[in-house]
Amino acid sequence: MSADPVTLSAEEVERAFGGLQALAGVSVEIREGEIVGLIGPNGSGKTTLINVLSGLLRPTAGRVRLGGDDLTGLSPDTVARRGVGRTFQGIRLFPRLTVLENALVAASVNSERGRARRWETRALEALEELGIEQLAWRFAATLAYGDQRRLEIARALALEPRFLLVDEPFAGMNPQESDELIERLRGIRERRGCGLLVVDHDLRVIHELCERVVVLNEGRKIAEGPPGDVYADPKVVEAYVGEKAASRFAVPVPRRPQRNDCEIGGEMG
Ligand code: ADP
Ligand code: MG
Repeated sequence: MSADPVTLSAEEVERAFGGLQALAGVSVEIREGEIVGLIGPNGSGKTTLINVLSGLLRPTAGRVRLGGDDLTGLSPDTVARRGVGRTFQGIRLFPRLTVLENALVAASVNSERGRARRWETRALEALEELGIEQLAWRFAATLAYGDQRRLEIARALALEPRFLLVDEPFAGMNPQESDELIERLRGIRERRGCGLLVVDHDLRVIHELCERVVVLNEGRKIAEGPPGDVYADPKVVEAYVGEKAASRFAVPVPRRPQRNDCEIGGEMG
């Protein structure tokens, strides 16, 4: 018998929003113990893929599997109980609950496997792993931005996931904060042996953290491999250059003339 690691996989997943094909047949596999990066220009389908993998969105075609189990179409809480945790690109904490209570809510969702270990233990452990245990009694709404991001991850960890999907966890962080979070995510992988899927725009961070990178563009996978190889791939360069060029040459939306424009003597363009 081989002891292959368990995998979370999207198989030929499609997802349409009206006429827009946000995912057009994407296959991705994450093994337990592996850190995989998911990159691609804005609107390429990264968040949609996380939404499909975590059960928030039902795919229009294709399957989601965890090990031998078919997770396609199961509710997000069932998918979470099966071992898939996720964070949100826009932070979604419970602002009027304390930091500890935010983590407790997640720990309590997974009561089946957690019976042997108390919710509080698991919630506190998760806070410690992100270095925010000293904030346990603060209301989530009062946290600094970086701590809110850390709490999002801690809350997902309190579920004891086998796979953790994090959507732009480094957004808005300075380089020191990013480096610290890289170390924390590595530590989580070492201690828990879970698989991580990390979406981010910071290619340096992805290069340092991930063994393997998947690149999406317009709902399709255009490259996959070690970060160094993938970054040099002409298809990837073109996708990113296309995005940069589009923003550089974007025509500014004309502004309606304002009453004050005359007073400062500005010519309307
Ligand atoms: P990314 O995370 O890579 O920036 P998304 O997965 O958020 O991209 O979006 C992929 C495409 O799907 C975009 O064109 C986006 O506008 C569209 N999209 C995403 N979610 C929805 C939705 N709920 N309704 C309609 N269109 C959506
Ligand atoms: Mg996104």
